[in-house]
Amino acid sequence: MKNKLILFTFIIALFSCKLSTKEDSKKINTIVCTTGMIGDIVKNIVGDQIKVVTLMGPGVDPHLYKATQGDLKLLNEADVIVYNGLHLEGKMGEIFEKLEKQKNIIVATDAIPKADLINNTEFKGAYDPHIWFDVQLWNTSTNYISKKLCELVSDSIAQKFKSNTLTYTKSLSALNDAIIANFNNIDAERKVLITAHDAFGYFGRAYGFEVRGLQGISTTSEYGLKDVSDLVNFIIEREIKAVFVETSVSSKSLEAIVEGCMEKDHEVKIGGKLYSDAMGKEGAPDGTYIGMVKHNVKTILKGI
Ligand SMILES: [Zn+2]
Repeated sequence: MKNKLILFTFIIALFSCKLSTKEDSKKINTIVCTTGMIGDIVKNIVGDQIKVVTLMGPGVDPHLYKATQGDLKLLNEADVIVYNGLHLEGKMGEIFEKLEKQKNIIVATDAIPKADLINNTEFKGAYDPHIWFDVQLWNTSTNYISKKLCELVSDSIAQKFKSNTLTYTKSLSALNDAIIANFNNIDAERKVLITAHDAFGYFGRAYGFEVRGLQGISTTSEYGLKDVSDLVNFIIEREIKAVFVETSVSSKSLEAIVEGCMEKDHEVKIGGKLYSDAMGKEGAPDGTYIGMVKHNVKTILKGI
């Protein structure tokens, strides 16, 4: 009997030891994200339990961003890396390729079926990476990132992640409904959005705006005199009243457009600053994804 009891205790101990090892190995300490918008998704999913680091702060252009030595250290030490993909972080591709073999990497745009992506007309076979301006698509990415993170943690932590995700995606759905309601009564001819670069393609498709950017989908592409004069002619022809600068792109290009229109006796004003590829300051109302979108909607409504 005594022997049986010892054996039983031994089996129990072995079993619980195995369980705790499995639970321990499913622990995440640090998640490193590239853009603010992705960092915001991850923070909303994981809450305060895990350290979330965002590499690109307010006003930073992800198309041009090069990782610093400090970033490389952070990426090497991270348990999980989350980035946008579709070449948004164009200068970091090689780094991600190298880290892919050693790290848990989640790509936000992997969530979106190809049929829902907008083609990048400048580069054959490439897609527009600015999916976050279609709030429904961003909702899909949020669920995808959450699912991937849940696979890396214990069941009890995953339950918390799932519950946080549900709360956040409900807020995103409410935001989407609010945008639609806000733009519902605007005449179609007023729904033209002109910005420095083509960051609002998904926004335009989702909320019925015609969009034009002076630069292409990436800010790495150059624009010439012909692009300026074509856009000036378009603004005059369509009697457009405002163009919008972006917080992460120089306003010089659009100032050239305003001047070009003035030379042809058409007054067009800078309608305000939109958050395109970066959010506002941390702690400010525009320092979250939902805050940045609300700011943009308000600014567009006022400007057009
Ligand atoms: Zn962009």
